[in-house]
Amino acid sequence: MPRDYYDILGVDEDASDKEIKKAYRKKAMEYHPDRNPDDPEAEQKFKEASEAYEVLSDAEQRQRYDQFGHDGVDSGAGGGRRGRGQGFHDIEDIFDAFSDIFGGAQGGGRGRGRGRSERGRGRPGSDLRVSLSLTLEEIAEGTEKNLRLQKYLECESCDGTGAEGGMGGQNFSMCPKCDGTGEIRQVSRSVFGQVVNVQPCPRCEGEGRIIDNLCDECGGEGRVQGEESVSINVPPGVMEGNYLTLGEAGNAGLRGGPTGDLRIEIEETPHEHFERDGLDIYYDLHLSFPEAALGTEVDVPTLEGQARVEVDSGVQAGKILRMRDRGLPDLEGSGQGDQMIRVHVWTPQELTEEEEERLGQLREHDNFQPQPSEEDTQKSFFRRVSDVFS
Ligand SMILES: [Zn+2]
Ligand SMILES: [Zn+2]
Repeated sequence: MPRDYYDILGVDEDASDKEIKKAYRKKAMEYHPDRNPDDPEAEQKFKEASEAYEVLSDAEQRQRYDQFGHDGVDSGAGGGRRGRGQGFHDIEDIFDAFSDIFGGAQGGGRGRGRGRSERGRGRPGSDLRVSLSLTLEEIAEGTEKNLRLQKYLECESCDGTGAEGGMGGQNFSMCPKCDGTGEIRQVSRSVFGQVVNVQPCPRCEGEGRIIDNLCDECGGEGRVQGEESVSINVPPGVMEGNYLTLGEAGNAGLRGGPTGDLRIEIEETPHEHFERDGLDIYYDLHLSFPEAALGTEVDVPTLEGQARVEVDSGVQAGKILRMRDRGLPDLEGSGQGDQMIRVHVWTPQELTEEEEERLGQLREHDNFQPQPSEEDTQKSFFRRVSDVFS
């Protein structure tokens, strides 16, 4: 039985968000792996505390936990319950929120190319990933979509600086730990001689300055949780699994750090009539036996509406009729797919006496004997149908 999250953090069940944050901060400082190298017990406690915080700091998760206990929040051992970008409280955001504890050491774990670049800027915000479902019609035409995103936004009351008064305020002083350089140099002696180890200053996170009065709104993070609408233009011809990336539309960085990207993954909504195969789409046409034998004209749905198709007499089941350029456009604009019509011939499942008698009369007729032929190629049908539509 996993331990109670409130017990782990050492807070009451009615603790405020602030108290929970404070308690986690204390535990994290105490048990952080960087401060307890090679101590599996500390590592375990650190993980426990992180998991507890992840749940209790999220109002919705906390409510479920209060109601249903551990079952309500689907906690896996050691975290990793959610994929990246699904919520605010993924593990990276926790590190972001407490970056003053973790200092530069955690920066390497973020696995992003950006890293801390210029001194004086805060930590970058994480990328956001969302999926976007599109119909084949929308993919064929291209479309514009509005997405509402839950994300970190720059704190307006401090201009993202984290300091009360923002840009205009006089709320920064030089970091006393690194004398404003943003770096800590440690000189150690080893058998190889003197080794100088340069690390970002943990006190100011390499910024060289510290904030005297934290902004009330964001608690000094320079960003707040909020909602934003983003409108995106989806070009014609996208495919399931394609990504669209919007630069700097992800989570705001910490204290003015660069904003992450927004990655939108395309999903295809299954279509009621069509199956997609690359740029082509397939449609199943069911004909009755007399229709197949006598020939017919039918209306079939297309991505743009409807089209009338002439089906020759004697069409065989399994034939594929091609409607040129009625498929999907190529994303690069270098072509257009076709709409394929697969012909099925419906065999009656029940017959009246009269129907049975009539079919029985036809059974022995020469023309009703199967005579599959090589010449009966699909080509001629393709030509016929494309003539109709070109
Ligand atoms: Zn602020
Ligand atoms: Zn410093």
